[in-house]
Amino acid sequence: MGDPGPAGRFGSMGGRFVPEALIPACEQVEEAFRRAWADAGFRTELTHMLSSYAGRPTPVTVADRLSDALGVSVLLKREDLAHTGSHKINNVAGQVLLAQRMGKTAVIAETGAGQHGVATATVAAHLGLGCTVFMGEKDMARQELNVFRMELLGATVIPVTSGSRTLKDATSEALRHWVTTVDSTHYCIGSALGPHPYPWMVREFQRVIGDEARAQCAELLPGAVPDAVVACVGGGSNAAGTFAGFTATTARLIGTEAAGGAALSNGRRGVLHGFMSSFLQDEHGQIAEASSISAGLDYPGIGPEHAYLAEIGRAEYHSVTDAEAVAAVELCAQTEGILCALESAHALAWVRRAARDGELTAGSTVLVTLSGRGDKDVSVLRELIRGRR
Ligand SMILES: *Cc1c(COP(=O)(O)O)cnc(C)c1O
Repeated sequence: MGDPGPAGRFGSMGGRFVPEALIPACEQVEEAFRRAWADAGFRTELTHMLSSYAGRPTPVTVADRLSDALGVSVLLKREDLAHTGSHKINNVAGQVLLAQRMGKTAVIAETGAGQHGVATATVAAHLGLGCTVFMGEKDMARQELNVFRMELLGATVIPVTSGSRTLKDATSEALRHWVTTVDSTHYCIGSALGPHPYPWMVREFQRVIGDEARAQCAELLPGAVPDAVVACVGGGSNAAGTFAGFTATTARLIGTEAAGGAALSNGRRGVLHGFMSSFLQDEHGQIAEASSISAGLDYPGIGPEHAYLAEIGRAEYHSVTDAEAVAAVELCAQTEGILCALESAHALAWVRRAARDGELTAGSTVLVTLSGRGDKDVSVLRELIRGRR
């Protein structure tokens, strides 16, 4: 998991497939990031902001009652305790600080469920930058409360009415808008995807999860390293950040996709939003709609580094159904007193299935990244669980 070089390639994945007009913008971000990342002053500023504002380091919780229920020893990396309730703030803090360094006065972002939009509006407000968020009209209706949250934070939310009026279209629109505003504006992408340098930069901003967890595991585990490290995958940023701390170890790395958005299990090679990777497609090669109960896993592709890690066999990817994820939310809530996000529950659900099927041997140690808290999912869960009674 190193530097993907000037072409931004992870094996044959990644790259920079953007219109000519965006090449200089991507190059400018790449150069600014390379410089900032090598600058101890920038690193200190980011670390300070993460600790004084965003609640880092997040703890690793030894999940005793959950472990008893599953028959494997579970450690939870608690990104649900970070400011705004998920890991998204790690990346946004890095990118907005970088934007400021580049002399930009505003940021734009795409958002699906609204979590990345809220995180971006939050950090932009904190640092005094303008913020515009592109959101599909359909998602705006489904996630009304997050639209209002962003507006409360001073951001402008722009409805996207093209295509399926969801995240995929919001991302395309944000890229289009960036072309015309690039002098004053930084595009803050919310996952480990997009044209080079984004997949690499976002992973580096998220590696704080894996680096912290590695050190925390060394204190908690006799063998220092867990047998397996598991994280859910939408675009792949919390998984990439978690894996980054463990690629050089013997730990098995496992990413869990939503069954309705399983770009690696069910997808084919393609190009979208500036990068080559695996995407859900129909028989004509048109990008297909992803669908999952967890809006954060509702992207038809996967970050290029994950496609590469799968190709070389360093990480495995498995899919988890909506029903398995809902059951895992309930189990985690009732054994640990932690209401995790539906996205994160996909990681737990795989652990549960793997422990039951002998994929994970009894007593093995598993680190699970809890990417976020579940408060946002309560009304969806209420509908489902009431319907079951
Ligand atoms: C956005 C989100 C995800 C999915 O994004 P990745 O880039 O794959 O990490 C997962 N969990 C939560 C809580 C999220 O908000």
